[in-house]
Amino acid sequence: MTPPATARPVFLVGSRDDEHISHLARRIEALGVETLVVDTLAFPGQTRLALTEGLDGITVNGQRLGVPGAVYLRSVYTHPLAFGVDADEDMDADWRTTLVAFREKATLLRGLLGRWEALGVPFYNPESTSWRIQKPLQLALLAQAGLPVPETLWTNDAEAVRRFAAGRRVAYKPVGGGAATRALGPEDLSEDRLAALSAAPVTFQSLLPGEDVRVYVLDGEVIASIRILSQAIDFRQNEERVESFALPPEVAAQCLRATQVLGLRWTGMDLKRDAEGTLRILELNESPMFLGFDARAGTDILGHLARGLVQAARA
Ligand code: ADP
Ligand code: MG
Ligand code: MG
Repeated sequence: MTPPATARPVFLVGSRDDEHISHLARRIEALGVETLVVDTLAFPGQTRLALTEGLDGITVNGQRLGVPGAVYLRSVYTHPLAFGVDADEDMDADWRTTLVAFREKATLLRGLLGRWEALGVPFYNPESTSWRIQKPLQLALLAQAGLPVPETLWTNDAEAVRRFAAGRRVAYKPVGGGAATRALGPEDLSEDRLAALSAAPVTFQSLLPGEDVRVYVLDGEVIASIRILSQAIDFRQNEERVESFALPPEVAAQCLRATQVLGLRWTGMDLKRDAEGTLRILELNESPMFLGFDARAGTDILGHLARGLVQAARA
C-alpha cells in the first residue's frame, strides 16, 4: 500500500496527550503518510504559531507548513470549561484576563482552521458546519428532513415546561453540556425548582426508555454500529454491555441522511429506542471519541478513520 509521492501530510489538531490523536498518528504513519500534530491544548503556552497575511503563511514551532492533505479536528480547547482544559488557577486569579486570553486564542485558531478550509482541504470536521451542530438547531434540521427525533423543548419558560410534561414521561438535560440526563419527577415541577430556569435554559425531552445505540458514519458510510445495554438513564453513568450489531438498512439510511443534512464527513451519533421500539436520533457529535468503543465492542473505528484520512490526503 504505497501512497503516491503526492500524498500530503495529514494534520491532527488537538492535544498530543489525547490518545485519539496519538493512536491516529501512528495508524496513519503506518499507512505511509506523514502526520503533523498541531497541539492546540499546548497553545499558546508551548506551541508557537506565526501567521502572516498570506493565506498559506503559517509557521508552527518555527517550521513553515505546506498545505495539508486532510485535517482531523479533535479539539481546539478554546474555553476554560472545555474537556481537558485546566484553567482553574488562572480563572481564580483573574477571570477577566483569562477569558480574554481564551478569546484571543480562539480567534487565532479559528482563523488558522478557516485558512485550510478556504484552501479546499478536506476537514473531519470543518468548523464551518459547527453552527448547525448546536442541538436546538441540529434536531430541528433533522426533524425538518423527516428523520425521527424525540419531541423536545428547549426553554427557560416554566409554563411551557408544565404543558410539555403533562401526561408523559420526560427526560431533562443541559442544552450544551456539563451534566447528565435525568428523569423529570413531580418535584421538578414545583415553583422553586422551575425558578432555576431564570439562571439557564434546559432541554426537556420525551423520555425514551429503550436501548442506547451509537453509530459512526465516515465519508457517507456506516463504519460501526454499537448498542449499549444499561439500566441507567444516561449510559455514561452505568454501562453494562457494549456490543457491535447490524443496523437495520432503514436505520442506516437515516443515519447517512442525518450526517448529510448536518454537513458532516464524520460523526458518532447517539440514538435511543422509544416505547414503541423506534430508534430516535438524540444527537450527532462532530468530534466523537471512539477508542473506548473499539476496545469494548471490538470495532475498528480507528482503522476506518485512519484510512479515510489517508484517502482524502491522496485525492
Ligand atoms: P450528550 O451530548 O451529553 O451526550 P445526549 O443527548 O446524547 O447528550 O444524552 C446523553 C445520554 O443521556 C444519551 O446517550 C442517553 O443515554 C440519555 N438520554 C438523553 N436523552 C434522553 C431521552 N430523551 N430519554 C432517555 N434517555 C436520554
Ligand atoms: Mg451523546
Ligand atoms: Mg454530545
